[in-house]
Amino acid sequence: MMEKKPIVTLDEAYRRCLRCGLCDASCPVYRESLIESDSPRGRVALIKALAEDSLEPTPRYADRIYRCTLCAACGEICPSGVEMETLLLGARKELAEQGLLAPATQRLADSLLTAHNISGESNVRRLIWTENMERPPSGVGRERAEIAYFVGCVSSFFPQSYSIPQALAHIMDVAGADYALLGREEWCCGYPLLASGMAEQATETMAHNVARVKAMGVQTLITSCPSCYYMWRTEYPEHLGELGIRVLHATEWLDEALAAGQIRLRPLAERVTYHDPCDLGRKSGLYEPPRRVLQQVPGLELVEMAEHHANALCCGGGGNLESHDAALTTALAARRVAQAREVDAQWLVSACQQCKRTLASAGRRQSKGGAGGRLRVLDVVELIERQMETE
Ligand code: SF4
Ligand code: SF4
Repeated sequence: MMEKKPIVTLDEAYRRCLRCGLCDASCPVYRESLIESDSPRGRVALIKALAEDSLEPTPRYADRIYRCTLCAACGEICPSGVEMETLLLGARKELAEQGLLAPATQRLADSLLTAHNISGESNVRRLIWTENMERPPSGVGRERAEIAYFVGCVSSFFPQSYSIPQALAHIMDVAGADYALLGREEWCCGYPLLASGMAEQATETMAHNVARVKAMGVQTLITSCPSCYYMWRTEYPEHLGELGIRVLHATEWLDEALAAGQIRLRPLAERVTYHDPCDLGRKSGLYEPPRRVLQQVPGLELVEMAEHHANALCCGGGGNLESHDAALTTALAARRVAQAREVDAQWLVSACQQCKRTLASAGRRQSKGGAGGRLRVLDVVELIERQMETE
């Protein structure tokens, strides 16, 4: 076994934590299992024990450290400013270096390092989602443009999510946006590597993306994925320095395009609730643009679930949890869908392809099991494309 390096200083890992347990009820994983080692407070104790050599890093230990969606809900409530993500990423880095990545997480890391995407398929297939569109997006094959649309791995490779980039590209074409798609030159944003504790490898992938986007003369970069957004907005400048590129989430761009009259919308008389993706809300502070966009649809009634904005409950799809423990992700998503049903929403709308995937499959399971009527789950971008006037 390689020599063990300190993961985090005790100052970070323990001195700040008062062991008050205020964070426990905010943690979606703890709420599901009620096991102390699944709670934020328990994780701090585990990390301290590893740093002090009073616990061995074993596969069981690693399992506890990976059973976290990195949703940041605990950080919102903690009176001492304990930064759970910093602690967990430090611990995951240590575990990764010691060969203790869970098999599914290791497979994911291998795909990212060899194929530059989470699916492991050839990266030349990045634009497969454009192939069954009535008209190919104008951004295909362009070498220079004012805007780059950074699609992200889930939307590029998982057929269930193709409709999100298809919708955004269609809207951008109707709005007359000057944009380009990176195609095979787009590599994973680096978030899954970072979340697995592989910061160095993540930085290499970030540097590739920045070089490609800069070579296109881009001024604005748009993402429809909150994790890509968080990476480009926060981690890229932190690891590579200021980028000199304006980074927008699709909902910010839609907000601006609607205000400028580039898109006009038809009415929709439905009761809609909005799920804040963790990487967009808590981690990027972007709460209002998606809501403002939805409120632009005439007749749409926007209602809030019991937990929203900074207190929003995680969908279960973050932090690589799904590749580590898919059943846990499903259980977490079911709790969020139940909150949407409690407010009698007919549509549950998010702004993230991963949230849409986890929530939609939980919604289908509940409907089949007779636990509620039909609940449509979709992305803000899809809803806007559906209501957009095209003539
Ligand atoms: S809320 Fe903060 S200080 Fe209290 S137990 Fe949780 S991590 Fe520790
Ligand atoms: S980041 Fe989220 S899932 Fe992880 S310990 Fe904190 S509240 Fe729990």
